Amino acid sequence: MTQRIKRMLGLDKQSDYVRKYFYDTNMRASIYMSVVVIVLELWMIVRMTRTIYENHLQAQFWHLTEKYYSNYFLLLSSGLLMLLFAVRALYNFRKCRFAAIVVMIMSAAVCAFEVKMLYEYSPETKTGSDLHNYIILMLSALSMIVFSFVLLKNGEDKKWESLSVMYIFSFECINFGIIISANSYQSGGQILTFLTMELFVICLLVWRPYIGFLVLSASYLVFYYKISDMIDLNTVGKFTGVIDFSTVKTGLGDGIKINGFTMWLSTLLFCISNYNKTLSQAVKEEDLEDVNSYLSKISAYDELTGIHNMVYFRSEADKLLSNSSENKDDFVFLFFDIVNFKYYNEKYGFHEGNDLLKSAANMIDESFKDSLVSRFSDDHFVVLTRYEGADRIISKLCERIHDFEREVHLELKCGAYRPTDGETDPSLACDRARFACGSIKKHYELNFKLYDKALAEKFRLKQYIVNNIDNAIEKGYIKVYYQPVVSTKDRTIVGFEALARWLDPTYGLLPPGAFIEVLEEYRQIHKLDSCIIREVCKEYRRAKDEQLPFAPVSINFSRLDFELCDIVGVLTGYVEEFSVDKSFVDVEITESALTDQQNTLKDAMKRLKESGYTVWLDDFGSGYSSLNVLKDYYFDVLKIDMKFLSDFSENSKSKPILNNIVELSRQIEMRSLTEGVEDKDQFEFLASIGCELAQGYLFSKPMPIDDLRERIYKGELKINEAFIK
Ligand code: C2E
Ligand code: MG
Ligand code: MG
Repeated sequence: MTQRIKRMLGLDKQSDYVRKYFYDTNMRASIYMSVVVIVLELWMIVRMTRTIYENHLQAQFWHLTEKYYSNYFLLLSSGLLMLLFAVRALYNFRKCRFAAIVVMIMSAAVCAFEVKMLYEYSPETKTGSDLHNYIILMLSALSMIVFSFVLLKNGEDKKWESLSVMYIFSFECINFGIIISANSYQSGGQILTFLTMELFVICLLVWRPYIGFLVLSASYLVFYYKISDMIDLNTVGKFTGVIDFSTVKTGLGDGIKINGFTMWLSTLLFCISNYNKTLSQAVKEEDLEDVNSYLSKISAYDELTGIHNMVYFRSEADKLLSNSSENKDDFVFLFFDIVNFKYYNEKYGFHEGNDLLKSAANMIDESFKDSLVSRFSDDHFVVLTRYEGADRIISKLCERIHDFEREVHLELKCGAYRPTDGETDPSLACDRARFACGSIKKHYELNFKLYDKALAEKFRLKQYIVNNIDNAIEKGYIKVYYQPVVSTKDRTIVGFEALARWLDPTYGLLPPGAFIEVLEEYRQIHKLDSCIIREVCKEYRRAKDEQLPFAPVSINFSRLDFELCDIVGVLTGYVEEFSVDKSFVDVEITESALTDQQNTLKDAMKRLKESGYTVWLDDFGSGYSSLNVLKDYYFDVLKIDMKFLSDFSENSKSKPILNNIVELSRQIEMRSLTEGVEDKDQFEFLASIGCELAQGYLFSKPMPIDDLRERIYKGELKINEAFIK
């Protein structure tokens, strides 16, 4: 309840937004009111002057100045001053030197006149109330001189200054109302001026009802006491300019008292309702503002790291690049990538991974203070900054990333692209910087790479691949090369791995290294893999129909295939279409594909197994999570990564490691296959430790199936009896 009353009277606490809203509302009201007052006072001055001349009252000039002109001019100049302050507060309008000087001159004239009146004051000829008036008017004029000086200084808008002027203005309006109405009342006229001025002030003082109410109540009291000693009649008739005090009878009529009281009460209610209306409007707008600022925040900021997002980055970079006054050569786009973040995430979990991202984002954001910094995606960040000095910051950042390192080794790689004049596409620039960054991902010693001509050529190829994959599939540029898998028992072929090649009319023979990653990045890989499945199934049919040598084929599946299409459905479709024996198609999934822990992948693998396919784990040992993968998924064949053989003869640890992996696979009932077998020693070692299968250049490089058949016919390669019918 008390809270309600407090709120009603404006005694409650207000937020900064609401305070500003009231301030603006008051200033806006001040503009209307001051314009009305200025017009009114000018009219009064003209009217009074005309009356003087028409009635030949020149002799009364000083008397009329005392009673009317001084008030008119004071109010005129305070209206003007209020107008100037309000316009400055709302619209930052500052060109008001001339008007401020006019205000100062008028106020100085009023002040000087009041000083004269004070000087000539004598209790015999003047009343105490006259003396009060002189003092009030003189002080008001003085304060206006002070505030017109403030305006002349032409400083920033200060709330207290504008509000002080508003209170002075209100005070002068009320004072004017009291004086004029008292005069009128004394001469039998109405008290309309007083009431009008009261209404003026209520409209002006929207701020806090209790202030408005106090100010107005005080003015009612003053007015009441001023006129309570005066005559209550309308007998004097029309105002003639001369007041005959001898005819005055004192006392205040009940009618006036009741009207005054009613007016005072309505003033209070008006103050409250006006305030509450404005308050609820302010609160509504504040809520709207909060929602807007929240929306604009989430549309411009990355939720996780708190730095800007790509929507913001693109639009700001766009503005910067389209700005003709900026020299494009000064800028550089940077693309940052945290190498091994994936393993970090996996080893320490999602939350710790997020913490690393936040720290890295803050580190980059702080290092490039006056630049555009944003999170691109995952563990990638982009920066648009000045080229000058950027290299120093980058090398520091690459050092500092090690501060976050734990057991997983972290690296920060940075690719850079300098836009040339006429280039305005931030997305393309980011893409190029990203490409430069990707080109050094596997180079341990390099942290920074600028997009140069050689990269531009590679980038063009990348664009070509993305834009032409459909065409390449349609025109048959995609070929399947087969690499034999042999049994270590008798070196006979027990299978083939299907490896994609792109035989392009422009670029020639493209190895998978040139297009697999690109197609994965642009989420097009499923198109290629579906094409390979179809070609393998087709080849199976041909081999069966034409009685050609053949063996089960393992096909590489990308992790993304499971996301981008129903790859199991595609496989089943072609197997049915070409009536393929399911034991002739195996699926290889690389170990790194399984680190994402997605359920779709798990479900798809289950479906593959249930449909009767064998699933191989490819590149075992190339990632961080090998053993977890063995625990969480079921595979038929473990394909040991070729890196274990790459330093086979020099590294004494290679043999025991291979031995243990093969032993492990036996224990968990998986067949083992080692890839990358290039010489006899390696092969014999693998045979000696019981690794069942081997694949490598020692037997054959990947090649078209017909070339392999040639070698089989020549007796260079032998197919296992199980597959000869
Ligand atoms: P992968 O599946 O591990 O395939 C084995 C890679 O090792 C092949 O490279 C093969 O040519 C190479 N290789 C085989 N024996 C030796 C050897 O003795 N020494 C050396 N140094 N290398 C050997 P390739 O054909 O360049 O393929 C590279 C990778 O591209 C593949 O690795 C596979 O991950 C991917 N890939 C190839 N074809 C496809 C495909 O149709 N779909 C998908 N998703 N990925 C494919
Ligand atoms: Mg493979
Ligand atoms: Mg492999």
